[in-house]
Amino acid sequence: MIAQLATQIAVECPECAGAVGLNDNVLKGEIVTCPDCGAELEVVGVNPVLLDLAPQEEEDWGE
Ligand SMILES: [Zn+2]
Repeated sequence: MIAQLATQIAVECPECAGAVGLNDNVLKGEIVTCPDCGAELEVVGVNPVLLDLAPQEEEDWGE
């Protein structure tokens, strides 16, 4: 049995319309990766949870 404080929810990926599993205590601005298409998605709303494509930026500039 899995005991978690957070409830798992499924949010539609804006890229591929697949289901992205998130905890319902996810924070706005959090970046998640779609398990289906690998797109980076930003949480743009939490009530309800909304996802949008994260800005495509190079990630190796910040070290
Ligand atoms: Zn996707």
